[in-house]
Amino acid sequence: MKKYLFPVGLWLLFACIAVTLWLTLDNPFYFFNFLYIGTCLAVGVALYIKKLKYARTAVQFAVGLYMLVYLGILSRENMQIEGFWYYLFLGVFEAAVIHYVIAKILGPLFFGRGWCGYACWTAMVLDLLPYQTPRRPRKRIGFIRYFVFAGSLLFVGSLFLLRVPGMETILFWSFLIGNALYYAVGIGLALALKDNRAFCKYICPITVFLKPASYFALVRVKTDTAKCVSCGKCKKVCPMDVDMTDPTRKRANGTDCILCFRCVEECPRGALHL
Ligand code: SF4
Ligand code: SF4
Repeated sequence: MKKYLFPVGLWLLFACIAVTLWLTLDNPFYFFNFLYIGTCLAVGVALYIKKLKYARTAVQFAVGLYMLVYLGILSRENMQIEGFWYYLFLGVFEAAVIHYVIAKILGPLFFGRGWCGYACWTAMVLDLLPYQTPRRPRKRIGFIRYFVFAGSLLFVGSLFLLRVPGMETILFWSFLIGNALYYAVGIGLALALKDNRAFCKYICPITVFLKPASYFALVRVKTDTAKCVSCGKCKKVCPMDVDMTDPTRKRANGTDCILCFRCVEECPRGALHL
């Protein structure tokens, strides 16, 4: 039973968030929203522990499709980074601001880049492509993310400065167009660089928030150097090029870990664990 403590703890964390937001914001939507997401994540992790092969993919689709289709398209809430800036500038603590604070700014201090591995609706499609084990070496073009990040801030800031009318509608269309672009660029890059997660490594603006917080993540894959025989299998299968042979937080690309546990599955010595 001890091995199920993590999914239970995860579910309790989301249940606490759900109840707290429901009561403080007097809006039952947050209760159902976070309870649904927490339940998907906890059940997915529990199924993974039971060695169900597609558990992570199932969670990614359950959460990703909910956010993309229900929240983004049907409820017309821009859950992308432009939506975050928009609600932030409006000065309201709701929708995308809450989503960002929990999934991408404070949450990663606890669960690292779990968002990228279990909830992102862009990555849920990219993970289906054929290059799960990337071609190496990594390109040195990660700076692009800062331009995308600044571009999103400039775009929304300009709408406010110029007092453009109909911002809600503009934000809805930017969500649709932005997502279409993300998919096109993500799939194109994955095929060109033979790396499913190339978009996550070089383009995604969210990583500007995610990477620094992930450095301090409580939940992370640890390396038992006494068991490790430096065979390099973990490095070989990692979709994010993390050097798991280094046990420290400074390991190469350590802040890119998406907690997919492929390295843990592949290690012949059982040297990797949470
Ligand atoms: S293979 Fe291991 S180090 Fe690489 S992203 Fe997955 S969990 Fe993280
Ligand atoms: S797969 Fe295991 S034994 Fe091999 S290098 Fe990685 S941690 Fe060490």
